Amino acid sequence: MMANTVNRIFKQSLNRTFTKPITRCLSLSATNNKKVAILGASGGIGQPLSLLMKQNPGVSHLALYDIMNTPGVTADLSHIDSQAKVTGHTGDAEIAECLRGADVVIMPAGVPRKPGMTRDDLFNTNASIVASLAKSCAEHCPGAFLGIISNPVNSTVPIASEMYKRQGVYNPNKIFGVTTLDVVRANAFIAEAKGLNVSTVNVPVIGGHAGITIIPLISSCSPSVSFDAAALKAITERIQEAGTEVVKAKDGAGSATLSMAYAGARFASSLLDVLAGKDGVVECAFVRSDVTEASYFSTPLVLGPEGIEKNLGLGNLSDFEKELVKACVPELQKSIKKGEEFAANFN
Ligand code: NAD
Repeated sequence: MMANTVNRIFKQSLNRTFTKPITRCLSLSATNNKKVAILGASGGIGQPLSLLMKQNPGVSHLALYDIMNTPGVTADLSHIDSQAKVTGHTGDAEIAECLRGADVVIMPAGVPRKPGMTRDDLFNTNASIVASLAKSCAEHCPGAFLGIISNPVNSTVPIASEMYKRQGVYNPNKIFGVTTLDVVRANAFIAEAKGLNVSTVNVPVIGGHAGITIIPLISSCSPSVSFDAAALKAITERIQEAGTEVVKAKDGAGSATLSMAYAGARFASSLLDVLAGKDGVVECAFVRSDVTEASYFSTPLVLGPEGIEKNLGLGNLSDFEKELVKACVPELQKSIKKGEEFAANFN
């Protein structure tokens, strides 16, 4: 597909529910009766993400799950005068109730990075958290969309997929690694560098969600922008290392939470939009893919009520971007294999 076609379709996704004003809904219809579950709802991402989803007029039931502090977060959010009913669920005994009937599940459960750590350093802790939560999703809401925020996304998406396969309910069109923050950052940094109105900027970001696997397609940016070679390299590396920029600035107090909550809410809102019948919604996400030799890869996806409707692929890559893809694929393959091997041995 031509880069400008990707851009045109991609552009349509800018008109998103997330940016609409909050409305009070007095009655429920097929477009505003969705149940959204947040797993890891008491955390740095979970709380602001839950706040944003509480304001989404498409949500009738917001179910919050964590291993701690869920009653407090639930009581607090339930005092907001927007439509969604809020319920809180804590621990293994209550996860079934949280997930039953969910249309969309977003998972920011697990530990974040501290300075000096890579996302892969989180594997030992987060792999088992994601595996056991995914197992519960496969059991209690196998048809729901699942958006995984927990890092390392390049491994946690394969882990979750293996858990669904084990239960015999795997649908690759409905399991997404949330990479929206990379798109949000690329839009913000390029708008800033070029003095553009950020609401008009859209940069597809492909690959994975860690270091060199994050590939902003600046040659496909809409509107088109140009950088000399040194500036292009510098802004690409800033996008790839933006998460680390936040980890360093927070100095031990965690990683990106507010911008991630914004990005997670944008992605969840796009899922709710397509469930409500909206056409032409495009988001990048890390999914099962045959676009490259890596078996999971993020590219712009046309979303529909059954999940991925069409994978828009790589588009027209510049020579610089082709080199980035070449470096990314073996890195991704390693992380995918690590996730799949972990899942095979998980009880
Ligand atoms: P946090 O420590 O503030 O919150 C994590 C929450 O998960 C806590 O409330 C914790 O109690 C909960 N939790 C732990 N085990 C759980 C379990 N078994 N079931 C349910 N909940 C459980 O961390 P955070 O800053 O919110 O980050 C969460 C995750 O998101 C991290 O892995 C982080 O690396 C990742 N992250 C991803 C992106 C991305 O772009 N995809 C961006 C930023 C952070």
